[in-house]
Amino acid sequence: MFDKSTWIRLPRNVVVGHGVVDQVVDVVDDVHLQGRPLFVTSPTPKEVAADPIAADFEAAGIDPAVVTVETATFDAVERVIGTAEAEEASYLVGIGGGKAIDIAKMASHHLEMGFLSVPTAASHDGIVSNRGSVPDGDTRHSVAAEPPLAVVADTEILADAPWELTTAGCADIISNYTAVMDWRLARRLKDVEHSEYAAALSEMTAEILVDNADLIRPGLEESAWIVTKALMSSGVAMSIAGSSRPASGAEHLFSHQLDRLAPNAALHGHQVGVGSIMTAYLHGGERGFWRDIRSALESIDAPTTAAELGIDEETLLEALTTCHEIRDRYTILGDGMNERAAREVATKTGVID
Ligand SMILES: [Zn+2]
Repeated sequence: MFDKSTWIRLPRNVVVGHGVVDQVVDVVDDVHLQGRPLFVTSPTPKEVAADPIAADFEAAGIDPAVVTVETATFDAVERVIGTAEAEEASYLVGIGGGKAIDIAKMASHHLEMGFLSVPTAASHDGIVSNRGSVPDGDTRHSVAAEPPLAVVADTEILADAPWELTTAGCADIISNYTAVMDWRLARRLKDVEHSEYAAALSEMTAEILVDNADLIRPGLEESAWIVTKALMSSGVAMSIAGSSRPASGAEHLFSHQLDRLAPNAALHGHQVGVGSIMTAYLHGGERGFWRDIRSALESIDAPTTAAELGIDEETLLEALTTCHEIRDRYTILGDGMNERAAREVATKTGVID
């Protein structure tokens, strides 16, 4: 008997390109959102994007409420929820880098309101996914959140974001390779639910990005175009899977553990990139394709060593030997690496000296 079913939640409109920030009002109209928006933004994105968007809404006779958040915390989520209620907002627009969008996404989930994503940095695939992540004490929670009804990504703004945010976005996509390897392994060994469509899309996204690595250069608007489309595509893969599996394997566990052990040492994408070099080695050994991952990261200026992440050897090894414990997700790390093995993979791949 056939009894499978799936419910795929995707953004209805994805608008990417030069100058599209002018089209937020039209996008809102197209998804039939009515009433007053609450803009969730942070200081710099407010100037470069939220203020001009607010002017467009005012010209259309709509007066948006605005809340500025500085850090991604549960307090900030609470504050956004409070503001939305006090200002009688009927939907949220997250305008900013990862933080503002994560917060808007989680608040809208709680409020049961529609949400639009207007990223100002192409730094990770959270700009389209339905998971939000906030640090809480010494842990980092990935929680259910609302997927955006629409994404408006202006490449002119994205190209102006600090370069390391773009290279972090690229590295997050390159790590799809190892995420998919882990997912396939988990299917073979643990019979975890798997979608070949999602896996293939996620891998192809990484491949297209690596093939275009030459075009990824600071200040080039085309770079922002390539990276943003790849982040969208990764997000779609996660939506199809109904899980972050296609874009998150052991390299993500490693990064989440680094977030606990060395908070704010490096960007999410950069951490998963380095993690991906090591987990690719574990999948393929000395002759495996970990070298390809490392050269792809090098070619886009992303870190490939602990030192470049600003993390000492001891912390790196601790993260690698303990990260399998943080969630029940089967990966190449299995039930954990011992320190000797961890030191060997980190040394052989040049991540530590
Ligand atoms: Zn990621």
